[in-house]
Amino acid sequence: MKYSKRFRVEPGSKVKLADIDAGFKDRHEDRESAQSELEQNSRRLAELQYLMYAEDQRSLLIVLQAMDAGGKDGVVNHVISAMNPQGCAVHAFKAPSAEELAHDYLWRIHRVTPAKGQVTIFNRSHYEDVLVVRVHDLVPKKVWSKRYDEINDFEQFLTENGTHVVKFFLHIDAEEQLARFKQRLDDPGRHWKISESDYSERAYWDQYQAAFEDVLEKCSTEHAPWYVIPANHKWFRNLAVSQILVETLDSLGMKMPPARVDIAAMRAKYHAAEALEEGGAAADGADASSAEREAESQHGKKAKKHKDKKKS
Ligand code: AMP
Ligand code: MG
Repeated sequence: MKYSKRFRVEPGSKVKLADIDAGFKDRHEDRESAQSELEQNSRRLAELQYLMYAEDQRSLLIVLQAMDAGGKDGVVNHVISAMNPQGCAVHAFKAPSAEELAHDYLWRIHRVTPAKGQVTIFNRSHYEDVLVVRVHDLVPKKVWSKRYDEINDFEQFLTENGTHVVKFFLHIDAEEQLARFKQRLDDPGRHWKISESDYSERAYWDQYQAAFEDVLEKCSTEHAPWYVIPANHKWFRNLAVSQILVETLDSLGMKMPPARVDIAAMRAKYHAAEALEEGGAAADGADASSAEREAESQHGKKAKKHKDKKKS
């Protein structure tokens, strides 16, 4: 089954996260059994991104949200490593700066949406303004409750202007989060990831889950769907995300753009330049020392041989 169907939140449908198995791994036993599919997805993703870059007509915005330690960084790494860095960007959204707070909450978002031909990944996003902001009463309810509609309008606006929006909620359960916090403690290489807020935010688990459920119900739309990705298994999470991206990009029917020049005329120019290059080499040879002349003539013979071979 297509993961883009299986994990998509139908617009307007209620989601109960506690009922969704975060440890789901479909027919796969383990990472090894999914490896060839993962590699295939990465290769296809690279081709499709190349096509989007060449076409230069539309863009892709990937939104990642999750509880702490849910794997957003891991997905960024996995998806980006399949792509040409020239065509993609990543933006991580932290608590807003004073300048950002002095503007509307979409200001910092809209400035970094992808240009035509580009793929952009948001590590956290405008959805924080109905998640952490709601859970911690950072603005009154009458302010944040209007934001679901505002966000839908904003995303529709992006879509109508050529940006495809795909949103992933990486779903881990509370047990898995604690296990990942422990890994961070046990591995000095991950100590930098530990933050004071890890445990204080965990105490709000239920409020966050409720806030996510509202986001999924209110903001999964035809034009900008949410996907709930079972994410306890990192490899399965990567498999599902990459597959949905491939399915999404495949469905756009992108085409390699036609050449911007007359290829036959350009080929004629190439041959003229090639002939000039060969003629030039021969003329140079005329006033070179005899040793150089010998070397030039060897080179000329080789070039002729190469040309004859090509003709045959
Ligand atoms: P991290 O992604 O672990 O580096 O943490 C970034 C932090 O910034 C998280 O605690 C987010 O909840 C917080 N954050 C992101 N966006 C907002 C926002 N709009 N308002 C308040 N806090 C935010
Ligand atoms: Mg964190």
